[in-house]
This record gives sequence, C-alpha cells and structure tokens, in this order.
Amino acid sequence: MNGPEIVPIALPTPFRVGPVNVFLVKCTPLTLVDAGVNTGEAFEALRTAFTREGLALSDLEVVLLTHTHIDHVGLLGRLRACANFTVYAHPDATHHRLNLEDNQEEAHRFALAIMREFGTPPDVIQKAAAEQQTFRDYAADAAVDRGADEGLTVGPYTVYHVPGHSARDILFVDHGQRTAFTGDHVLATMTPNPLLRRPSPGQPRARSLVQYRDSLRKTHGLDLEVCYPGHGEPIRDHRAVIDSLFKRMDSRSARILAILGAEPLSVYEVARGLFPRADVTQMYLQLSAAVGHLELLEEEGRVASEYRDGVLCFRTV
Ligand SMILES: [Zn+2]
Repeated sequence: MNGPEIVPIALPTPFRVGPVNVFLVKCTPLTLVDAGVNTGEAFEALRTAFTREGLALSDLEVVLLTHTHIDHVGLLGRLRACANFTVYAHPDATHHRLNLEDNQEEAHRFALAIMREFGTPPDVIQKAAAEQQTFRDYAADAAVDRGADEGLTVGPYTVYHVPGHSARDILFVDHGQRTAFTGDHVLATMTPNPLLRRPSPGQPRARSLVQYRDSLRKTHGLDLEVCYPGHGEPIRDHRAVIDSLFKRMDSRSARILAILGAEPLSVYEVARGLFPRADVTQMYLQLSAAVGHLELLEEEGRVASEYRDGVLCFRTV
C-alpha cells in the first residue's frame, strides 16, 4: 500500500545552519511537520509551496513538531492567523507558550551563568551573549495544543522520544511505510550538537551527550527505509549515519583526552583546545560540545571533575 505523499519544503533561515526543512504530508488530516523560522521570506516560501501543491495554508489541520528550536517552530504564529490546526509537540512544551519573552529571559540568564561556571572570560561571554540575543528577533508567539507522549499515534505516525540534541526531540515514525521525521536528531551533513540546556526546577542539568547517545541507539534499532531530517537531504541508511556519528564522537573524545592532563582544565579551556580557530561568538555551541564529551568521559571513568574557585574543571584519571 502506498503511504501519504510527502512533500519536502526547504525554507530559508538567517542562521549559519542554512535552510530548514518542513514537510507537507498530503493525508487526512493535512499535516505539516515543523514550522520553519519566523521571517516573512520563509512564510512566503511556505505559502508558495502550498499553492504549488494546489493547497492553501488555511487547509492545514495538524502540525507536528520534531522539537522546539526557533528554526523549527517560528512560523506557527503566522500560520495561526490563517488556519485552524492542532499542534503536537513533546509534552514538556505544552506547559508554556513557545519563545515568549520570559522564556527567553530565563534562557539568557542560564547562558550567562553556565558560561561563567565553565570559566569563560568576560569579554567572550559578552560576545557570545550578544550573538544569542539576536535570536530574539525571530521569536514566535505560539502555543502547543497536545503533548505527544511516547507511543502516541497521530495519523500514521507513532511518537518516539529521543532527547539529546534538545530535551524535547521527537521522532514521528510511520512503521507501515518505514519512514520517519527525525528533525535534528540524525543529520547526514553535520554533527547534531547536544546543546547545553536549562535544568527543570529542582533537577540536575541533563548530561546531553550521554542522553543523546542512548537515543541514537534506540533510533538505530528502528527498521526504517527513509528518514526526513530537519536539514539536508532525506537519509536512506540511518544506521550508517548513526554509526558515523558515533565514530566522530569517539575521535572527538580522543582529542579531548589528548588536550587534558593531570592538571585540571576548565570547560572553556578544553573548548578552545578543541576548536582553536572557531568564532568565539559561537562559544555556547563550542562549550556544549566540550562539556558533553567531558561528561561522557567522566561517565566512562576516564576523567574526573572538580570545582576550582567556582569553575568546573576536568582532568584525566
Ligand atoms: Zn534545526
């Protein structure tokens, strides 16, 4: 049996990541997977794509969100103004409206505090924080209607939770067609960065990379023919892509072990050693990558952490 027709639509973003994919699924209810970034250009590109398919934006009935990063949810507010649809996302995203000012304020405070805790010099914090602030221009005021719990089915799709890249990463898997929408969980053209994130109140900060690797193993076990990712072309062999992601992680861990010695280094120092030529405005991403690997190595018993004057440091054991 043929499954619903899936129309990939690449929408422009103003970010370094390049275009972001959304997918129109021509089934009943008419479904869109992810919602691009909040710019007039992306909105017009989406409208044009609908018209090309003989559809109007007002025909939209369901939106599935693979995760709630700004390049994947941005157009929800504009779409709400012209269509009536139900938005499904990770249950944690239903507690507050996405990208509202207070939420961004909290994220900003967390970013400043964690960069300090990792030993980042004040001038670098300032540059990286200024870069982060530019994301506010793309905030979207939108709400999630339904929490997509693990195992829930929405149309032909079964929900799988795969935290790592973000805490709210979801796969929407069509077992009959052996297809899945995988968001930024598995990407062929880049290594998804398990981003540092705010812990829930009263909870310890999640070890993003450790969590991500567990999720990748889960996805590896799925029988899939095609994965539709958030960036880049469809993936026809997700297991090979996941295997190569693990290899890249292993070689990065080896480089970190070579950088570290018996003398403790701050997370910032490790990040600089790992990405010596990288633009410091992207420090949040570099720190995310560094601390992810350091926590993984700590879990494996190969490094130990300690605080020195309030700065998180690691050394080999
Ligand atoms: Zn993305």
